Amino acid sequence: MAGLTFAVKMAEKHANRGVVIVTKGDEDESNTKYAQGGIAVVLDLKEDSFQKHIQDTIIAGDGLSDRQVVEMVVKEGPQRLKELIAWEANFDLNPMGGFELGKEGGHSEYRVVHHKDVTGYEIERALLQRVHQLQNITLLSHHFAIDLITDHHLGIDKKGEVSCYGTYVLNQKNGEIQTILANSTVLASGGIGRVYGHTTNPAIATGDGIAMAYRAKAQISDMEFVQFHPTALYDAEGGSYFLISEAVRGLGAYLRTQDGHRFMPDYDQRAELASRDIVSQSIDKELKKSGNSYVYLDCTHIDIQDFIHHFPNIYEKCLERHINIQKDWIPVVPAAHYLCGGIVVDANGKTSIHNLFSCGECSGTGLHGANRLASNSLLEALVYAHNIFKYLDKEKLISKQQSIPDWNDYGTTIPKEHVLIQHNLKQLQALMRDYVGIVRSNDRLTKAIEHLDLLYKEVEELYKDSKITTTLCELRNMINVAHLIIGQSLERKENKGGYFNVDNK
Ligand SMILES: Cc1cc2nc3c(=O)[nH]c(=O)nc-3n(C[C@H](O)[C@H](O)[C@H](O)COP(=O)(O)OP(=O)(O)OC[C@H]3O[C@@H](n4cnc5c(N)ncnc54)[C@H](O)[C@@H]3O)c2cc1C
Repeated sequence: MAGLTFAVKMAEKHANRGVVIVTKGDEDESNTKYAQGGIAVVLDLKEDSFQKHIQDTIIAGDGLSDRQVVEMVVKEGPQRLKELIAWEANFDLNPMGGFELGKEGGHSEYRVVHHKDVTGYEIERALLQRVHQLQNITLLSHHFAIDLITDHHLGIDKKGEVSCYGTYVLNQKNGEIQTILANSTVLASGGIGRVYGHTTNPAIATGDGIAMAYRAKAQISDMEFVQFHPTALYDAEGGSYFLISEAVRGLGAYLRTQDGHRFMPDYDQRAELASRDIVSQSIDKELKKSGNSYVYLDCTHIDIQDFIHHFPNIYEKCLERHINIQKDWIPVVPAAHYLCGGIVVDANGKTSIHNLFSCGECSGTGLHGANRLASNSLLEALVYAHNIFKYLDKEKLISKQQSIPDWNDYGTTIPKEHVLIQHNLKQLQALMRDYVGIVRSNDRLTKAIEHLDLLYKEVEELYKDSKITTTLCELRNMINVAHLIIGQSLERKENKGGYFNVDNK
């Protein structure tokens, strides 16, 4: 959503500028595609207000959100939504013709605009349709960005100042590595969920943009604030978990232990509508107490027609797993879902590297603080894509003649033992789940760093000697991201929002 929105805006306004979108895998594969709940936007000014949305965001962020950023993002919402509608994204309407607004955990009012329970899919459909209409956009699917091109590649030392000139990109179909030069580069590479293995994110969410920016020495922060979604559909086989949207609890579903106790009122007066970190930590405590692998989400008291109307996709997915939500409770477990921090950007989406911008989940804007309020991430992606566009709109393009060396893979060979990559990936994911999960401790974090160093050394050796492959690069990136999460967790001495360390106050 972030990358496509920026590309569409820039290409619509400047027919003489070319925009290249590099995306690994199919063009629509992304976290955006799976967003269910919707976009938080203040539209009903009788019941709701910008002030209430600002307050809810700051409460969820546990005081660490940047107030100016929160105000800017919330107030931009209605205008950015209008643009999506102009690009033909459809949202559900009520019988009076207004938007049917949903309410999710942590929101004090109904303000979530949605398209059934497939909001992200619908938005992405509309954006891709617009991308294909614009002649000055080149969309390179199945192309993997390996690394940013910076002064380091040109052998220039600007005394700590770094500029970006584009990226090296692997054509995933023929294995060739291309050099793509750009006046401005926007990182919009999404989330990091795969670092944990058990996640609501699809396989593309390997934190590549953050790792690339980190290697280029950009500022990265708040990586300790990984949000775990409280209610992913439990699957004994692991992998990507299907998400049971927050909005299901908004419609009145209860969380129960396996012996039937409705436990959320024991932890918070908002019960099931408490913010995500509180619900995830409460489930984690119940699971640790009982030794069970999952708790239940009980929807049996909700009107079934109402449920199917709001959540047809969830209803179907549950039926596929032989769960009839009218009479069966849904087994759920928390899973890695969203990264609140990332590549530090200012209000224009500028990173600490010249000509490098970032928006969407991989960026750290200061909006979410220690915990993201549900449905604020799509809003943030839209607003920052717009802000980068606004900033670059005014910039004069100066053609810079740089002599950029092509990718050098002299002396590398195709790795014969893919088993090494898979083995190290599984080790990394188990390490992150067991040592760097919802509840952390200094002892486990310190041990995690030691284990990670071993993985790092082994994978770096493999990387130096091997021809580039997507899986190898992704593993290397995930190790970088894990390093950032653990290192920044150890630096945080106070529990805030989604971060909980038993050794902190
Ligand atoms: C199941 C689920 C439900 C959600 N529900 C909601 C919701 O209701 N409301 C809400 O606000 N948020 C929701 N979120 C979060 C939200 O969907 C994401 O934060 C948001 O979509 C991120 O958008 P993005 O454009 O930053 O990244 P993405 O949509 O993930 O796009 C990133 C793109 O970058 C590409 N990419 C990554 N690395 C590389 C590389 N090295 N080379 C080339 N391409 C690369 C990927 O292939 C992908 O196409 C949900 C997330 C999930 C997983």
